[in-house]
Amino acid sequence: MFEQELIQLGNKHLLRKLAIVGSAQGPRVTVNGKSMLLMCSNNYLGLAEHPALREAACAAMERHGFGSGASRLVSGTSDLHAELERKIAQFKDAEAAILFNSGYAANTGIIPVVASAGDAILSDSLNHASIIDGCKLSKAVVHVYRHKDADHAESLLKMSMNARRRLLVTDGVFSMDGDIAPLPELVLLAEKYDAIIMVDDAHATGVLGKQGRGTAEHFGLEGRVHIQMGTLGKALGSFGAYAAANKDVIDYLINTSRSFIYSTSLPPAVCAASIAALDIVRKDAGLRNRLWNNRDRFVKGLESLGIDIGGSETPIVPVLIGDSGKTLQAAERIFELGIYTTGIRPPTVAEGRARIRTTLMATHTEKDVDLAIDIFGRLKEEGYFNDGPPRS
Ligand code: PMP
Repeated sequence: MFEQELIQLGNKHLLRKLAIVGSAQGPRVTVNGKSMLLMCSNNYLGLAEHPALREAACAAMERHGFGSGASRLVSGTSDLHAELERKIAQFKDAEAAILFNSGYAANTGIIPVVASAGDAILSDSLNHASIIDGCKLSKAVVHVYRHKDADHAESLLKMSMNARRRLLVTDGVFSMDGDIAPLPELVLLAEKYDAIIMVDDAHATGVLGKQGRGTAEHFGLEGRVHIQMGTLGKALGSFGAYAAANKDVIDYLINTSRSFIYSTSLPPAVCAASIAALDIVRKDAGLRNRLWNNRDRFVKGLESLGIDIGGSETPIVPVLIGDSGKTLQAAERIFELGIYTTGIRPPTVAEGRARIRTTLMATHTEKDVDLAIDIFGRLKEEGYFNDGPPRS
């Protein structure tokens, strides 16, 4: 069963395989038994292996055991769920917050509540798959605007004035390109055309803004984004996701969001780790500064080698290749040279837009970054980033 389909995926260089990581998501990891420099994790601040998170999770486990036992509305709301939601609301300068079990569950749980039959959704063409799936579940009319093109979004908004409600939804930081949404323009559009605006801060939480509070803080737009969704499994080094919004929105989600209502809640120990992570992010800008220094050093190095990183503005730095087969070969060569990165291929990115997606972490040393620049320089020399086959 599915043998032919798998063969076809292989022929198109689109077959995916799991690499087994036998260590924490530190700057060095053991992959398939080999020690590698990690450059594809979303553990941007290095919190996934931070002692404060480990200790918080262990202490919570002593008190609460591990599993939460049920969904939140049945018996699965612990004091730690409630405390984490209070802290997220504070962090995001919002009236209230609600937890979800993952970013995927958040987007597929929020969007169909906010927009349904009779409504219109305006969605950036490079929004994350979980937003796309949330849109599909919503039964609203979905208009996809060109990437970061606020003028295009406006023309689609004008066409949507007959809809009962309009939802404008965008990634804050685009996960495969590392560029930032034009939030100031989008907020103005939402205000002008009476639309609800929702930002997915999966890659912006802990990363963007002076205090790491995300895209709205980065642009000084606090209080003007109706729904700020974000994840706890990336820069916060934990697991799960949230939406922060006004109390009515959150109460309505509690009452109607299917991924919230019909799913066992996060283990309390996971919430305890998230609380510890939020405390670090709020109090200590040092990790964020190190992350951005590493990012700037890496980007300067690649640019000096003439390597195309697209429109990256954040610690997500894609190296564009185009062809899926060549991208796979490049990822294998980089692996041989000691760096664990991933070749990103369709359908995650558009046809002909395959790439190596690299991510920087606060816990990389300058030496790590320089090693990565050298290795990318070597791949360039070997012809992986030019048209045509690499030199063997
Ligand atoms: N939104 C964006 C922009 C993402 O990049 C991701 C994860 N890659 C998600 C949502 C889903 O988050 P999670 O991994 O917590 O399901």
